[in-house]
Amino acid sequence: MPLDVLLLGVQGSGKGTQAKRLSAEYGLAHIATGDMLRAAMSEGTPLGQRVKPIYDAGELVPDDLMIELIRERLSRADTDAGFILDGFPRTMAQADALDSMLSEIDRPLTVVLELQVPDDVAIARLRKRAAGEGRSDDTPEAIAKRIALYNQETRPLVSHYRLAGNLVGIHGDRPENEVFSEIQQAVEQAKVASA
Ligand code: AMP
Repeated sequence: MPLDVLLLGVQGSGKGTQAKRLSAEYGLAHIATGDMLRAAMSEGTPLGQRVKPIYDAGELVPDDLMIELIRERLSRADTDAGFILDGFPRTMAQADALDSMLSEIDRPLTVVLELQVPDDVAIARLRKRAAGEGRSDDTPEAIAKRIALYNQETRPLVSHYRLAGNLVGIHGDRPENEVFSEIQQAVEQAKVASA
């Protein structure tokens, strides 16, 4: 059985860090749509050029582009043992498309983890990262936009996956190692439940 994990959480929740650790620990393909877009922009591909203004403003890239990107990514062999989705889906249309793609290949998500942190903590972490990493979408305006879009477009997915029955909430406003061990426990339980 593959181990397929979806990690939800506002930007600044520590999602990327936890996804990297989880992918290393369990040998899962780490599918981070933000990283894929940043790679496309730095290579200057047609996709990269198209998304750059959207990305820089902290807006969401159109669903059809993101869905095609994921469809292609999920078809690669490195996802055979499992994957971790980090940054997709972000809208209900993306979630519906993902549900259909996964049911076509008879591969339901093993577990959906929601990393919960208050908005003010997420904003403080993003501002700190802005000073360190210099991401082009870490301006105060784009940060505010991204948090607002998360609340409007992405947070409703929590109820969607809660109804589907495989959502686990993780308290993310704690030291990284504590968060990771809670994630590991949730993943281990989900593996047993899906076996
Ligand atoms: P991230 O690295 O996950 O914080 O994503 C950075 C930016 O990439 C977002 O603010 C969006 O502009 C874009 N992006 C990444 N994933 C998606 C997605 N699934 N749907 C729409 N836009 C996305």
